[in-house]
Amino acid sequence: KPRAERQRLPVVPQGIERDAFLQALAELKEELGAENLEVNDKPLTDGWYMEHPNTHDMMTILDEEELVASAVVYPGSTEEVQQIVAWANKHRIPIFPISMGRNLGYGGAAPRVRGSVTIDLGKRMNKILDINPEDFTCLVEPGVSFYALYEAIQAKGYDHMWIDSPDLGGGSVIGNTVDRGVGYTPYGDHWACHAGLEVVLPTGEVIRTGMGALPGNNTWQTFPYGFGPYSDGIFSQSNFGIVTKMGMTLMPNPGGYESFMYTFPKEEDLAPLMEIIRPLRISNILENVAQLRHVSQSIAARGLPRSTFYTGSGPVPSSILHAEAAKSPVGDHTWAYYGMAYGPSHIRAHKLALIDSEFRKIPGARKIDPSTLPADEYFWSRDRVAAGIPDIQELRWVNWTPNGAHVAFSPVSPIRGTDATALFELGKKRHEQYGIDFWPAFCVGLREMHLIVEIVFDRHDLERKTAALACLRDMVDDAARLGYGEYRTHLVLMDQVAGTYSWGDGALMKFNEKIKDALDPNGILAPGRCGIWPRRYRGRGWEM
Ligand code: FAD
Repeated sequence: KPRAERQRLPVVPQGIERDAFLQALAELKEELGAENLEVNDKPLTDGWYMEHPNTHDMMTILDEEELVASAVVYPGSTEEVQQIVAWANKHRIPIFPISMGRNLGYGGAAPRVRGSVTIDLGKRMNKILDINPEDFTCLVEPGVSFYALYEAIQAKGYDHMWIDSPDLGGGSVIGNTVDRGVGYTPYGDHWACHAGLEVVLPTGEVIRTGMGALPGNNTWQTFPYGFGPYSDGIFSQSNFGIVTKMGMTLMPNPGGYESFMYTFPKEEDLAPLMEIIRPLRISNILENVAQLRHVSQSIAARGLPRSTFYTGSGPVPSSILHAEAAKSPVGDHTWAYYGMAYGPSHIRAHKLALIDSEFRKIPGARKIDPSTLPADEYFWSRDRVAAGIPDIQELRWVNWTPNGAHVAFSPVSPIRGTDATALFELGKKRHEQYGIDFWPAFCVGLREMHLIVEIVFDRHDLERKTAALACLRDMVDDAARLGYGEYRTHLVLMDQVAGTYSWGDGALMKFNEKIKDALDPNGILAPGRCGIWPRRYRGRGWEM
């Protein structure tokens, strides 16, 4: 039968009988209302970014049935989240919280354990609880996207406040932040910019962190620490709690902004450029999480399929990429730096002059005049995102292959020429070995940078999926041997990446496991997320 007509039996999580499981689901349905629980027995459909599934990863790198939910529940309040957690403990059923499930490139909406019941928090818990125009803060529920927050601030006429958005604005502010995602204004380190959490623990209690623990406080969103140990950290990139509210700081409108773009001709320019970028970035002359992108990705960002340029196998030859770049309004180059200067024009002028004199030390450096670029040129998407305006143009490069999907390699390094070159060489070698187009983009934080390498593959092509995963696994190991670790990773690679953080005979993971077992004795909450397995699962072959 065609895929769309095939019926599927609901997946049952391992360790529970089918009848007992269906009975438990019926019980939960009764508690939450029939409309708030959906059994995943329909054909899996991938949709697209704005209409993505919550049952599985629409960009799966494994077989799509591999990491799939058995059912999805929609709580409407913190109390209902507590009810779901109590139910999961009673029946020992794994649950997996998502805020909106747009974690594409890192697992999408998929749970780590097949057959988990996904808690889709965002569908009903989607209120902006507060926007404070004096303190420049807000308090949001999991279903608030970057678009929704931006639009609410605009609707209130609060022109004096900006939000910070990742490249795609359709994700959840909470989901992105707890996964320690990044955006591109000076408030781009989302985790560093959050203030205060409300969390349902795996045994059902609710806590508020920081000043939120003090009844009657009015500083929950302005002083993140409160008193005593700072516990927020353990609720990011973990499986220790379900975040139901989060405070976020908002950026003051800087009173003006100006995007700029420089291009550099040669691959070897990378190392001297990093030496120029580091002091400028640390001293905040380069003010935002800017990007240094390779021409290969700039070509793909136009949104045309790879076959437009090349129909052979293996990576698109460099000569073709450069010929294409030469025809574009930006012109031929190897690296493009996208940045933004903030503030009124006289303040920007000082910083831009410094940047200009430094960047021009690279022979052949060119400053691109934005007025020469058409409205659909990628530069303008970077311009919007760096000004805190949500966008989705970045999605275009996913069109590179038919059934485009992607997965990311994201190691952290110092902002140094030697490190950038080492990671560049490592990635290039592995991409050539596996016949994959290499798209390095260096995202410069403050004292470190993330190299983000996106591998785009056809999700219906098993051979290309296998190559993409093997390439990633090799790069993670190669990088770890050189002392580089991932800042974030895909569900499928979490065990491997967690394994690279092994100092002191795995002391950090032993500590995480202790916390996990103390907070989640029945091991029901997102088992395996970030490589942390509860006692009930450990040593039983769940790791990948
Ligand atoms: P979710 O999918 O809801 O959450 C992410 C994960 O966090 C979940 O799987 C879950 O394990 C955990 N989680 C979520 N909510 C909770 C909760 N309430 N309590 C406990 N745990 C929870 N990402 C960036 O950071 N920066 C970028 O610039 C960026 N660019 C991208 C460009 C493209 C083309 C694509 C396809 C993706 C990009 N991404 C980027 C990745 C991703 O799209 C975003 O990070 C997105 O915001 C994550 O999805 P989400 O916000 O819906 O989070």
